[in-house]
Amino acid sequence: MQIIPLPAFRDNYIWLLRQDRLAVVVDPGDAAPVRRYLAEQGLSLAAILVTHHHPDHTGGIAELLTESPVPVFGPAGETIPGRSVAVQEGDAVRIPGIDVAFQVLDVPGHTAGHVAYFGDKTLFCGDTLFAAGCGRIFEGTPAQLHASLEKLAALPADTLVYCTHEYTLSNLAFAAAVEPDNPDLAERTARCQALRADERPTVPFPLGAERLSNPFLRVNEPAVIARAEAEAGAPLSTPVAVFAALREWKNRF
Ligand code: ZN
Ligand code: FE
Repeated sequence: MQIIPLPAFRDNYIWLLRQDRLAVVVDPGDAAPVRRYLAEQGLSLAAILVTHHHPDHTGGIAELLTESPVPVFGPAGETIPGRSVAVQEGDAVRIPGIDVAFQVLDVPGHTAGHVAYFGDKTLFCGDTLFAAGCGRIFEGTPAQLHASLEKLAALPADTLVYCTHEYTLSNLAFAAAVEPDNPDLAERTARCQALRADERPTVPFPLGAERLSNPFLRVNEPAVIARAEAEAGAPLSTPVAVFAALREWKNRF
């Protein structure tokens, strides 16, 4: 089994999982790169997984279905074009011919019904957790997104995170503004800058190291709290309040 990034739009990755002659795609915002890859490699589409309803994650579904009428798994709480299987927390996704079973996790915050898929040390988390960052809060609350990130961060340390955007360098620039003296952050930034200079993806990334440099997972660190309080101009008495202040700051960063 292999997982391949298909770049789309400016900074999206459509993840394609392949085993033998079968392929599963996650969040196909655009059909063209998927159809091209399937044709080049002689693969048949077996299923589509969707994390949330935004067009850059769903825009290619209808066109893919005209060629391959495959099951489309998507969050029960959202309207997903072509969805045939509504999934939510506790469900398992099994696809004939693909050896991984994915566990569905509800991770609201970026959108109200956002789900993630976890199986075989692999996490497809859409726009919830990013490398050194997290999604914007469009439909949920800071408390929801904070809880969703903590849920993901509690998965096994050897999990590889396949998020949907290459936002890493800008996330790291923000993280450095929050924690200028964090040595893990400096090391990660150097590594990711080298990857991007080579036009290589910084995703996937290991979940186990994420807490060392992602400010949104570090809201209990005294240095992060102090910086967030300075930015907010007020004391922040709970981890969620620190998280909300960081997210708000990042929006205007
Ligand atoms: Zn989104
Ligand atoms: Fe997106």
